[in-house]
Amino acid sequence: MTGVALVTGGNRGIGLATAQALGSAGFTSVVGSRAGVAVGALPAVTLDVTSTASVDTAFEQVEAEHGPVDVLVANAGITRDGLIMRMPDADITDVLETNLVGAIRCARRASRGMIRARRGRIIFVSSVVWALGSAGQVNYAAAKAGLVGAARSLARELGPRGVTVNVVAPGFVDTDMTAVLGQERTDEILRQVPLARLAQPAEIARVIAFLASDDAAYITGAVIPVDG
Ligand code: NDP
Repeated sequence: MTGVALVTGGNRGIGLATAQALGSAGFTSVVGSRAGVAVGALPAVTLDVTSTASVDTAFEQVEAEHGPVDVLVANAGITRDGLIMRMPDADITDVLETNLVGAIRCARRASRGMIRARRGRIIFVSSVVWALGSAGQVNYAAAKAGLVGAARSLARELGPRGVTVNVVAPGFVDTDMTAVLGQERTDEILRQVPLARLAQPAEIARVIAFLASDDAAYITGAVIPVDG
């Protein structure tokens, strides 16, 4: 599979590593980001996953400049951690809106061209907490678990049209998202990780690139843990 790949939240962290890996694999790899600024040699498009208008405009721009999107990596995500008793409504809705609704919104728009082309790959970036749960992350774990239900349903809807839909569930990755956690929390998490270290973003990106490749043609509705 070659063609056009679009990575949401592709400007930093796991998203950037993924956009780079897909570029190296031969895709025209487009960074979707709220700033819309090109990253190195990678073309960019302005894309805020919380806005249907922004998603539509971004896809139209990619289609006009590069062609239909063959691979969507729905990677954009935020955390708003806190214990449930003190979690404001906005922290619940913002996390669901970005991590879950945003991914579904992008998949819906991507599916249009993929169904027409009778080929495509949709990859959701979930998290190990989708299955394990995480104290202080009720909002985030719910969103990440929701992605699995969405992907497995999409796999059934879109499989007959030649489109695969899969989930990558990373563990603890060395990015801005985890840099804010502090040493004590980091050590606590690492005690649960058999490999006893954080992942580098490229280690997640390579698995996503595999799911976009021809070698993964018969994988759909799968959840691939990359959690050490
Ligand atoms: P970062 O915080 O480094 O990057 C998050 C990315 O998401 C940024 O590019 C950010 O854009 C983008 N983003 C946030 N909100 C929106 C939005 N509304 N529209 C478009 N883009 C948005 O996080 P990571 O690279 O660590 O995480 C990437 C994904 O991996 C997330 O879904 C995260 O939940 C998941 N993940 C991360 C793990 C980790 O340990 N780091 C573990 C498991 C899963 P901007 O620069 O504009 O803020």
